[in-house]
Amino acid sequence: MEYISTRNRKNVTDSLHAVIKGLAEDGGLFVPSEIPEAKLSEEQLLSLDYDGLVMHILGLLLPGYGEEEIREIVTEGYRDKFDVPDRVALKHTAKCSFLELYHGPTSAFKDMALCLLPRLLTAANRLTGNPDKVMILTATSGDTGKAALEAFADVPDTGITVFYPAGGVSDIQKLQMQTQEGKNVRVCGIEGNFDDAQTGVKKAFEEVHVKGVSLGSANSINIGRLTPQVAYYFYAYAQMIRDGKLSYGEKLNFSVPTGNFGDILAGWIAKKMGLPVGRLLCASNRNRILTDFLSTGVYDRRREFYLTASPSMDILISSNLERLLFYGLGMDDEALRTLMGDLSGKGFFEAPYELMEFIRNDFDGASSDDREAFNAIRRLWEQEHYLIDTHTAVAYACAEKAATPGKTVVLSTASPYKFASSVLEAIGEKVSEDCFEAMDKLEDITGVPQPPRLKSLKEKS
Ligand SMILES: *Cc1c(COP(=O)(O)O)cnc(C)c1O
Repeated sequence: MEYISTRNRKNVTDSLHAVIKGLAEDGGLFVPSEIPEAKLSEEQLLSLDYDGLVMHILGLLLPGYGEEEIREIVTEGYRDKFDVPDRVALKHTAKCSFLELYHGPTSAFKDMALCLLPRLLTAANRLTGNPDKVMILTATSGDTGKAALEAFADVPDTGITVFYPAGGVSDIQKLQMQTQEGKNVRVCGIEGNFDDAQTGVKKAFEEVHVKGVSLGSANSINIGRLTPQVAYYFYAYAQMIRDGKLSYGEKLNFSVPTGNFGDILAGWIAKKMGLPVGRLLCASNRNRILTDFLSTGVYDRRREFYLTASPSMDILISSNLERLLFYGLGMDDEALRTLMGDLSGKGFFEAPYELMEFIRNDFDGASSDDREAFNAIRRLWEQEHYLIDTHTAVAYACAEKAATPGKTVVLSTASPYKFASSVLEAIGEKVSEDCFEAMDKLEDITGVPQPPRLKSLKEKS
């Protein structure tokens, strides 16, 4: 299995170089030339623990490392970083189940991959004999930034610079980034939104060349980010069976709060690897460009950009969609270049009918605005005493709307404490201006303990 660029299928490389490069030289994204089968029997699936699943999936998707190397990367990368024994947790409520992916160092699901990325990268440099130092350039809508800073802080021969929209992240997200310690870290608030940050970073990849330094990416455009995320879909499936909610072979739907389309694409890859995934619900907030795309076939970014209570989903250019389009076009790089050229030149593209058929085969779209998301948080709290954050709430509200037959798992992507003021407002409490006051208040009212690492930010700020 090789990796090829979506913009030029003759641009072929192996998994190690794909991780080092992040983005292909031609501006494309690397994808596996074929998606390998996971080949897990019921017994195997149920016997693997979380780390074992990650090792199995990475062994298949990143074959360049070899079994021993992958074992060490996963064991060391995840060791002592999570506050639940399985790294993630599955919780059941009346209508659906929630896969909590926020028990890592920065309280967002980005940790699941970013705990491993520095090790994936340094091992790839060692195995390929790449003598360069690495400068990681990262655009963030709020959560990737902190998770990447935390992961790369003081990693030898690397530096990391994070660009975030100065007016578009929560107070806690901003504080998390600005208080990051480490000799090799830089944080930069930009005028503009996430799309501007990401476009700037992609441009730097094409235009900046410094001798002895290679640029790397911690965004989900890097397959080193994407591939570890495939594993938790397998975990969710196995855990549903262990909890007696699903039988082996039965289809399981997922509702995914979507921004850059990385998380949900990992779910699609899991499905292509053989996991019995039913529908993948692409859940958007008021920036519903993907919802409109799924219903009309036109991807049109000539629209107003909204700041919402789920800032990590405030995105209009969802980079990873390009990977799905490429597969849907039968790996026709020329056709893909035309669509991407239309998007950057005219501000929109129209997908051919067959391509939309391909996509709609696996994906549904829905969107929920802040009011619907807040209602979802309140209902779930009042009826089931279960607390979710604003992003997860979008996916939950969308799942309720879509009412897809069968069982559904909602991916829970951030701790409610990362967005405490909004969550307080949602459950009908008076909101405090100060984010630490809001966190304390939320803890007092709900009794759900706040993550110690968020609480301790107060001393650092
Ligand atoms: C990044 C993020 C998302 C969106 O994930 P994508 O992979 O960009 O689609 C959703 N929720 C939270 C909390 C996030 O941090």
